[in-house]
Amino acid sequence: MTDAPSHLFYQARAPRPFLSHGEGIYLYDESGKRYIDGSSGAMVSNIGHSNPRVLAKMKVQMDRATFGYRLHFRTHPSEDLAAKLAGLMPGDLDRVFFVSGGSEAVETAEKLARQYAVTQGQGSRWKVISRTPAYHGGTLGALALTGGKLFAGPFAEMFQEMPHVRAPQTYLDRDNLTEEERGLKYADELRERIEAEGPASVLAFIMEPVGGASTGALVAPDSYYTRIREICDDYGVLLIYDEVMSGAGRTGTFLACEHWGVTPDIVAMSKGLGAGYAPLGAVAARSHMVEALLDAGGFLHGFTYAGNPLACAAGLAVLEEMEEQDILGNCTRMGAVLMDRLQGLMARYPFIGHVRGKGLLTAFEMVSDRETMAPLPKEWNAHSELVELAYDAGLILYSRRTRGGVEGDHFLVCPPLIVTEAQIDEILQILTGALDTFAARHGLDVSG
Ligand code: PMP
Repeated sequence: MTDAPSHLFYQARAPRPFLSHGEGIYLYDESGKRYIDGSSGAMVSNIGHSNPRVLAKMKVQMDRATFGYRLHFRTHPSEDLAAKLAGLMPGDLDRVFFVSGGSEAVETAEKLARQYAVTQGQGSRWKVISRTPAYHGGTLGALALTGGKLFAGPFAEMFQEMPHVRAPQTYLDRDNLTEEERGLKYADELRERIEAEGPASVLAFIMEPVGGASTGALVAPDSYYTRIREICDDYGVLLIYDEVMSGAGRTGTFLACEHWGVTPDIVAMSKGLGAGYAPLGAVAARSHMVEALLDAGGFLHGFTYAGNPLACAAGLAVLEEMEEQDILGNCTRMGAVLMDRLQGLMARYPFIGHVRGKGLLTAFEMVSDRETMAPLPKEWNAHSELVELAYDAGLILYSRRTRGGVEGDHFLVCPPLIVTEAQIDEILQILTGALDTFAARHGLDVSG
């Protein structure tokens, strides 16, 4: 069965074992091998696998109805989840639109911004400035934001790439500025870009408050977040936070923006919202924006599966579980433990150049020289080699090779938010073994 030819195709030919089942932070393949889910899949499975309370609540909805088209019926799960989300959102981000994934959420956010601007007589505004590197999704509209060779590849000709500013990768800078000064320096690049594009043409600025697949858990200096909000306000540019990865509690607050007391105009979410129990995403926007759209005849946008009652029942059950088990509190506590353990690795492995993150969205980056942050040789494929070593030993990690103009290997260590300290030790034990093997293979120094 396992060796039968597959009609499915994804990115690569590399065969993976069949998944048997999951339990808590562990996954099992059909041979019985156990894996620690050290990346929550792709930062999705925030409350762990096969949670019986969530499954039971989904079953109740399953027995009632798994689909009701939104133009024909309202459903309780979608209304209740929207109300619950509105209560969790900061400020007046209390109107919610459901989608089925992150790319859909990002494109919905862009279209909402655009249609709102048109209702305000600002039809000249259409450019959405994004950061580079960034990741906002795989659909063509999202790729126009993500940009860059790594993600856009042969598709670059198929869309008009949006303008960019640099993501604040201050850990690569070797200047005499303080972190806070660096934060302002990067934020001010947005002002310059808006001026260069022509302020009347700029609709919005989109950013991941804590980076994910693109920058590997990049956190900006505090000054960056407030200055960006000020600049957007100065120019009437809408601020969109892509919290597809950082939202739903991954950084220890429900949305990452809460860490800096900044309220964006629109938020895109997915991943941890359905937490792997259902494909689910959401866009939240300020009430007055949505009212303007509704007054103008409604939002010219929609997806067939939007607000699917089973997906929303799953999302609601996930949020209830998060509250009942104080999962945000655990995330903050265990995030600090994980950060401490990862930083501890730097003493033993000189080729770990930087450790960063917030809550349980954490990453480390491997380099050939910590001082200059020069990357490891590209042909080593370190990002994939270390992941394979860990996988063989039963630890799932998520990695990428990318870093603006300079390429680098970063590894996201993002276990489910229910992880315990003992499980973090288990992750670190396997990771250390994989790093030792990697170092031995490549003749890299290991101290201690
Ligand atoms: N935005 C961010 C920040 C993401 O991390 C991702 C997925 N990695 C997306 C958007 C796209 O989400 P999806 O793959 O569900 O379309």
